Amino acid sequence: MIAFESLEVRYPGAKEPALKGMSLSLEDGIVGLLGPNGAGKSTLLKTLLGLLEPSAGGGQVLGVGLGTPAAAKLRGRIGYMPEYDALIEDATAYEQVAFWGELSGLEPEAARDRAHEVLYFVGLDEARYRAVSGYSTGMRQRVKLAQALVHSPELVFLDEPTNGLDPEGRRRMLDLVMKVHAELGTGVILASHLLGDVERVADQLVILDKGRISASGSMSGLRKALSKRVELRFLDPLNASQEESLPELGALHEARNGYYDLEMKDADPLSAFRWAESHGAVLVQVTPRHDRLDEVLLRALHPERSLESEKA
Ligand code: ADP
Ligand code: MG
Repeated sequence: MIAFESLEVRYPGAKEPALKGMSLSLEDGIVGLLGPNGAGKSTLLKTLLGLLEPSAGGGQVLGVGLGTPAAAKLRGRIGYMPEYDALIEDATAYEQVAFWGELSGLEPEAARDRAHEVLYFVGLDEARYRAVSGYSTGMRQRVKLAQALVHSPELVFLDEPTNGLDPEGRRRMLDLVMKVHAELGTGVILASHLLGDVERVADQLVILDKGRISASGSMSGLRKALSKRVELRFLDPLNASQEESLPELGALHEARNGYYDLEMKDADPLSAFRWAESHGAVLVQVTPRHDRLDEVLLRALHPERSLESEKA
């Protein structure tokens, strides 16, 4: 779907590049682009759209090389939902989406038909003849999504689509993102600073930090790493020599009152029982810690952070 190598992007006058040599290859699906503000998510999307020119490196999107003459036509095959609102306040949702369809190369009649379809798809069919100035943030975000989809793109870039939404609005938007891929077959890149967003919808994850890719991989790989994260409870707290042997089983995060928060080497909980038996300890409970995805990610972001400093 997308591949790029040593991609560097520099804003005029900036001290350092916003993207500092990124290499990556992405499969078709829903890609979550996660990173704190300023990490370079929006810059990367704009570069892949051809709105910004790389100062070094290059890549291809949907088989077309960035910066080549053919790349100018790429925007007709990609939908873009920008981070910031660019809606015409006194126009109706229907007018904006149809207009956007024409800008994206559709004939006026086709643009009008598609506007009705995509507004229905995003759940705005009833409100479509009202001016967007009276819309809630959630409705505005859905108009932007409809605009990004109006020309039936093969790929859609969504930049912070849940910005400003309450939990219910966020859930609706993320459901829509999944529906875009499942029902329309459109590839999705979702940029967000919220872990919960990408965790919910993405099947591939790319983590950006300060203009670099700090980690990337499949969500299933990450979930697997997570399944090794458990809390063990022993009948009695381990004695000193048992605690010393604990690293055989995995890396210890925290120990308190006979509870041991551990990242096991092996995802099989039976290995914990075997270890206990061979060390004369009585293991009474193994609890998965699925709530620790943030920690797994944090280590991906900051590999220099040792387990020691996490304990502190
Ligand atoms: P993100 O979308 O992850 O929040 P951005 O891509 O917007 O990050 O920003 C990446 C870096 O590029 C930041 O350091 C930001 O200050 C800088 N930057 C973004 N847009 C511009 C611009 N138009 N001119 C100069 N610097 C910019
Ligand atoms: Mg951004």
